[in-house]
Amino acid sequence: MTFLETPIEYLKGVGPARAQLLQRELEVFTYEDMLMHFPFRYVDRSQISTISQISVESPYVVLKGIINNVHSVNSGRTARLSALFSDGTGTLELVWFQGVKWVMDSLKPNAEYVVMGRPSLYNGHINIAHPDLELVQYGDQPSSHLYIPVYPSTEKLKAKGLSSKGISKLTESILRQGEGKIPEVLPLNVIQHYHLPSREEALRMIHFPTNSREMSIATQRMKFEELFMLQLDYQYAKYQRRNVSQGRVFGIVGEKFNRFYSEKLPFELTGAQKRVIKEIRADMKSGHQMNRLLQGDVGSGKTLVALLCMLIAIDNGCQACLMAPTEILANQHYATISRFLEGLDVNVELLTGSLKPSQKKKIRTRLAAGEIDILIGTHALIEDSVQFQRLGFIVIDEQHRFGVEQRAKLWTKDVCPPHVLVMTATPIPRTLAMTLYGDLDCSIIDELPPGRKPIKTLHATDAKRLKLFGFMREQMAQGRQIYIVYPLIEESEKSDLKDLMDGYESIARAFPLPDYQISIVHGRMPSESKDYEMQRFKDGITNIMVSTTVIEVGVDVPNATVMVIENAERFGLSQLHQLRGRVGRGGEQSYCILMTSDKLSSSAKERIMTMVNSTDGFRIAEADLKLRGPGDVQGLQQSGILQLKLADIVNDEPIVRAARDTVQGILDQDPNLQKTENACLALYIKRKAPKQNWGKIS
Ligand code: ADP
Ligand code: MG
Repeated sequence: MTFLETPIEYLKGVGPARAQLLQRELEVFTYEDMLMHFPFRYVDRSQISTISQISVESPYVVLKGIINNVHSVNSGRTARLSALFSDGTGTLELVWFQGVKWVMDSLKPNAEYVVMGRPSLYNGHINIAHPDLELVQYGDQPSSHLYIPVYPSTEKLKAKGLSSKGISKLTESILRQGEGKIPEVLPLNVIQHYHLPSREEALRMIHFPTNSREMSIATQRMKFEELFMLQLDYQYAKYQRRNVSQGRVFGIVGEKFNRFYSEKLPFELTGAQKRVIKEIRADMKSGHQMNRLLQGDVGSGKTLVALLCMLIAIDNGCQACLMAPTEILANQHYATISRFLEGLDVNVELLTGSLKPSQKKKIRTRLAAGEIDILIGTHALIEDSVQFQRLGFIVIDEQHRFGVEQRAKLWTKDVCPPHVLVMTATPIPRTLAMTLYGDLDCSIIDELPPGRKPIKTLHATDAKRLKLFGFMREQMAQGRQIYIVYPLIEESEKSDLKDLMDGYESIARAFPLPDYQISIVHGRMPSESKDYEMQRFKDGITNIMVSTTVIEVGVDVPNATVMVIENAERFGLSQLHQLRGRVGRGGEQSYCILMTSDKLSSSAKERIMTMVNSTDGFRIAEADLKLRGPGDVQGLQQSGILQLKLADIVNDEPIVRAARDTVQGILDQDPNLQKTENACLALYIKRKAPKQNWGKIS
């Protein structure tokens, strides 16, 4: 056991009870964990304010004065503790809602305290809830630390004396005992190249900086270390996979591809499409299995790229399959692709759950005999009974709806793993992609086919509803169709269903039969009725589709030109963008109308304005990440990004970049980490328990 691995229990002043609490509340098990529990801010001792100076806007204040009149207040079932704090310029209330008894017993009336915390407004007065307190002892030496670290703590910890100050004492004691015992984890040349302080120095300085320069040098170093290790996790896996897993070699571009390209393709590929196809071709020839993510906004032509690549697989004697998240989308892909391939000798089939058993059986038999070139379907494709003769290429559309296991299952269908292309229309911000897809290759189509008219996005409130109805009538008079979307119906949210039904009724009143036909679709309908209604809308039988977000992914009705989103303030940015992508798919000018209430929170306002001002999916994704933070980005919940202690994927982009490039450089030279200078990294990988990476497909 190294010094850093020492259980926290052994630290003087901790003991079993507090150790258990530290484990439970902060996941601190060892000395190292304790050192990696970083201050979230520092208080500059020289910056003591007075009560008269502060306001509720002050983010965090340090005050010095006397506490008195400590008493508990019982209001209803909850008790709180209240005390008055004054410093000669004014008085404010300190309150505690938890640990009441402990605080009450420990407070010394009429003694001088340094009080730190965030002011808030209560009953028209400023108070500070759960302040950090430091008793000013008579004859105290002025502390050697100018900056007091402020640590995240919890009420339970505070009740056992482990407030920020208690934690700081433990940290200080570990650092004192640990002199010379904290080894470096980054390779020496990296430390030198970036002029980083050693790990021990950095830990010392991040907890107890003596000036602001130390604080920032140490923070940068620890952020770099954190992002570096995350990159190492992802990229090491990727390099291993590259070295280990063989892939089919698709060396030729043959007759099917060439005929399609010269005879069937009705338009010129965009520059972005050409570039991406080149990237995919390089993978296909490499002898290693491809695992590639293809990102591109709705309508950017991903499906076409996928089709071209499937043809290459077929030209090389393999079969291909395309997996869609819903039956509607599978049908849609089947229709488009069969149309594109008409007259070419390529057998395309559709396999979905709603086929009769006899039809399914027939498809399976032909598939196993190699008579089917392209199989399109839903997850029915990954049932065990589905066996390909020679599967060489898999396309997965809209990856967010597919679980990791589902994808993994697909490629066990063959001894030699097929190449995998995952397509998504939910753009992932650059910094995230850099980190998350460290172990996946990533291609981006960042260009729309020429001649698309950008969708006009407008924001309106209820006062404009009659005008909206008038506009809808105009559009439908020109033969166009309209979507009206309501927030998602969750099992628990009865009111959403009511909103949808009320909305439907008022739409039905405003647009009566027989002039107008309306479809309604929501998540609680049986899927056959959903499909039926959706099909009627696709076929142009109904003019208006009233629905919840079930239509979010991929549905293609080029004749629909208006997307009305009700209660738009309740949707996240990426969802709004996805919904908007349902229109603007034909040649006509399309519109997206965001209906909201009059009163909007500032973040809702910002979301709406972002939508009104931009149609660029990547810009919207960046804005979304900034507004909500990575915690709310779809699909990130299982990733390491949310466990970052210090670094922030949004604001630390330069460090993310540096860490990624450094790790790449190291692995390019030494993919198995066998060089002496990388021994520390090899050790890190070895120690690390094997874990499932979300981004990994195979
Ligand atoms: P995505 O799958 O990215 O949403 P699709 O591949 O479905 O996009 O393409 C959207 C529409 O644009 C389709 O009708 C397709 O035929 C058309 N399209 C694709 N590439 C081009 C291009 N280079 N030029 C013109 N139209 C294109
Ligand atoms: Mg698509």
